Amino acid sequence: MRMLAERAEDFTTALAADLGKSPTESFISELAVVRAEAKHAVRHLPAWAAPVRVPVPVGLRPASASVTAQPLGVALIIAPWNYPAQLVLAPLVGALAAGNCAVLKPSELAPATSKVLARLVPQYLDPDAVAVVEGGPEVTTELLEQRFDSIFFTGGERVGRIVAEAAARNLTPVTLELGGKSPAVVMDGDLDTAARRLVQGKFLNAGQTCVAPDYVLTTPALEPALVQALRRALKEFYGQDPATSADYGRIVNAGHFDRLTALLRDGTVAAGGRHDRATRYLEPTLLTGVSPDSALMQEEIFGPLLPVLTVPDLTSAVRFITARPAPLAAYLFSNSPERRTAFENAVRAGGITHNACLVQLAVPGLPFGGVGASGSGGYHGQQGFDTFSQHRPVFTKDTRPDTLRVAYPPFGPLKRLL
Ligand code: NAD
Repeated sequence: MRMLAERAEDFTTALAADLGKSPTESFISELAVVRAEAKHAVRHLPAWAAPVRVPVPVGLRPASASVTAQPLGVALIIAPWNYPAQLVLAPLVGALAAGNCAVLKPSELAPATSKVLARLVPQYLDPDAVAVVEGGPEVTTELLEQRFDSIFFTGGERVGRIVAEAAARNLTPVTLELGGKSPAVVMDGDLDTAARRLVQGKFLNAGQTCVAPDYVLTTPALEPALVQALRRALKEFYGQDPATSADYGRIVNAGHFDRLTALLRDGTVAAGGRHDRATRYLEPTLLTGVSPDSALMQEEIFGPLLPVLTVPDLTSAVRFITARPAPLAAYLFSNSPERRTAFENAVRAGGITHNACLVQLAVPGLPFGGVGASGSGGYHGQQGFDTFSQHRPVFTKDTRPDTLRVAYPPFGPLKRLL
């Protein structure tokens, strides 16, 4: 926490260099998240770490049984580039709270932030307990050949498989925080509010957010008004020309820029669409008339393109979502408790959020993670502590009186026990 307070500017400068994030955005979406996570852990650690007594069955008494959290050992934390400070440091909170040492591998695609972490972490944390190793896939490959006690990976599905395979070779427990196409379904309610929240969730960090709404499903009746409301929200947040907005980020590199601009062909541009390769600027863009079979709808977009598709009703929306791999988040905009319950019951996702996007991550008591293709395991709050702990049972019995005689051979006939 001291590092975040004293060296906030080092981080915000690096994040601006890597991703064009404004200092305010960096503070809200990176530093404040880690600080909240650390504060929450400090407050609750005595309760999380306290031994939990477990009742002993009559036949085994007198005796005591309890479960105590033990550190797993040395954790390897591998992070992506999109929230390059938060996604290194927030898992570290859980690892340290649980008493582990850690090796941190920041992303090479956010080089300025990686350098700041490598420089500052050893100044604020015991270098014997926490080490930062910089580098790209070759360095990660080498790290994965070592034997760790826990591996925590945040990134894409392809590398997730590589990490899981490497972990399996050493029987190391692995947490996979992956991505996916998180849907947002708009069924009813105040469309202006829904649009503002969708725009906030989608275009923060220029859409490069694992839980950003990837696409919108709404009804043909609501679509025109929703698209209008989305256009208004875009203008309200980023002005007439988002290129000049201090609050709008840039695409991380030319490779991702080219991938994203190629996807513009898959729909009709209903807002935005302008781009500039030299500055990696891609305007916040709404796309309509998108085919579910297009490339845009196959892979996680991970950029500022928001397709709006139509479905007849909530049942069809749910069918659309459940026919695809389980996403990290699923969003429903509706004021109907029946619709919310139906959505919760039918949709398989890492988490469900009603009438908002992204802000669920700011609740430290809520676990965060994926399911199926969007990952396994999780963190934030107590789940972060549990992820890096072994919940070790301890059973204690005195030698006298020897009440275990019944368990010794020779056994009598089974009948006596029944
Ligand atoms: P990535 O999978 O390409 O890279 C993540 C990390 O893996 C980096 O540190 C990188 O150096 C390392 N790596 C890359 N190739 C490797 C290889 N061949 N062998 C070993 N290590 C390798 O992910 P990214 O592009 O940095 O991030 C984008 C993805 O991360 C998106 O899919 C996004 O949804 C996901 N993500 C998930 C969360 C979450 O919390 N679930 C958060 C942010 C991003």
